[in-house]
Amino acid sequence: MQHDSPDTCAERPLDGALSHDPGTALSHDPATGHPRPPRREFKARGSFVARCPGCHLPELNCLCPYAVRAESEARVWLLTHPMEHHKPTNTGRLIRDVLPETEVFTWYRTAPDERLLALLDDPRYAPFVIFPDDQPDYAERVVGIDAVAEAKAAGRTPVYVLLDGTWRQARRIFRKSPYLDRLPVLPLHSERLTRYRLRKPASAAHLCTAEVAAELLRQGGDDSAAQALDDYFDAFNESYAASRRFEKIEAPTAAMRRLLERKG
Ligand SMILES: [Zn+2]
Repeated sequence: MQHDSPDTCAERPLDGALSHDPGTALSHDPATGHPRPPRREFKARGSFVARCPGCHLPELNCLCPYAVRAESEARVWLLTHPMEHHKPTNTGRLIRDVLPETEVFTWYRTAPDERLLALLDDPRYAPFVIFPDDQPDYAERVVGIDAVAEAKAAGRTPVYVLLDGTWRQARRIFRKSPYLDRLPVLPLHSERLTRYRLRKPASAAHLCTAEVAAELLRQGGDDSAAQALDDYFDAFNESYAASRRFEKIEAPTAAMRRLLERKG
């Protein structure tokens, strides 16, 4: 989940065109009736930024050369808020790039995804809903990371169900989805601070969705997949931030070099 408040997750101009203020297009001053010099139409920078069709990042720093695939014992299923899907700064999609078995479901309050419901009932999987353990009313459902190893020992595939949206959206998904009520709640306990630079987090302790997944994979024993996702997130973060500054990354970062090595 992106733990940022709604006002801080607003897209910056690079991500979408701002509406043109019709007041600036008047050819005559409305107060005096005097003709005005023509003004250049204001356009947000993002409205003409060319994006790579592969990675959807600005072409200036395309992420495609660094796309890697990894394997993990645990799976990730994303329950994504509809508002989050089309944001280019969404990091949930990075998880599926690295781990192709990742499932992505769109959350609609009144229409739960039938395939998700079926998968939640599939005995091959041991799904955990990832959510903080800061409220008392579901304390009896809270488990620790040990439960992941226990699921594996029992021959089941652990699944991290991530609520992908702003903090408020994630809380709403958690509270308004009765089919999640029977799942164990696995809070992520981590000392890690966010490196995400594309949205302003409420706190450095609030990790974005890809960071949460990488940390869970690491804690659950999928170290190689965790490292790949972490590096891919890092490359995304650096590439996007540089493009916003209209800077081309000339020398690959350490994470980018590790990704290139992994691809061989
Ligand atoms: Zn690309």
